[in-house]
Amino acid sequence: MSNRIIKQSVIRGPNGKIIGRQTNQVIDNGHTIYSETSQSVVRCSSCHRPVYEVGQWKGRCDCCGHAMCDQCISVCQACKRRVCGRCRHSFVGQRVLQVCCHCIRKLYKRQAMADEIMLSKERFRRQQQLKQHALRRQALRLQAKRQGLNARIALFRLVNAINPLRSGGRNGQRRR
Ligand SMILES: [Zn+2]
Ligand SMILES: [Zn+2]
Ligand SMILES: [Zn+2]
Ligand SMILES: [Zn+2]
Repeated sequence: MSNRIIKQSVIRGPNGKIIGRQTNQVIDNGHTIYSETSQSVVRCSSCHRPVYEVGQWKGRCDCCGHAMCDQCISVCQACKRRVCGRCRHSFVGQRVLQVCCHCIRKLYKRQAMADEIMLSKERFRRQQQLKQHALRRQALRLQAKRQGLNARIALFRLVNAINPLRSGGRNGQRRR
């Protein structure tokens, strides 16, 4: 037959702050008496930093529900949710934002959409550019063709002016 006595007490710092818990265990089995002492510091479940007083607890994370302390709590800059350190994300946009899990997803989605729109605008611009290039090339080809034709017409007129017999002959026939 053995008796076990467990005594728990809190350890306070010099200014009365709780800096840990102490557990005293005395086991009496009839022959020997064991005494065990273990200490544990109360730590925040979110950031694992030691928490010394009740006032340091800042409620539960609006996102994951874990208890937060004054060292790891933060407020989402987009929706004002109070979140723990694990639910805080940095979003790098035009400026850096500290946001919660919900808002980081939304922001990434919005950024992806904006990128998509920009890409399609760019694609459209390039298409228009290619079309304009094609039109300009076609216009140049047509101009060259017209110049060639004009040159041939000019040559034809010149030949007729030098040798009026051919056209004159026809004119003469028509005059009769
Ligand atoms: Zn959280
Ligand atoms: Zn914490
Ligand atoms: Zn948020
Ligand atoms: Zn979260």
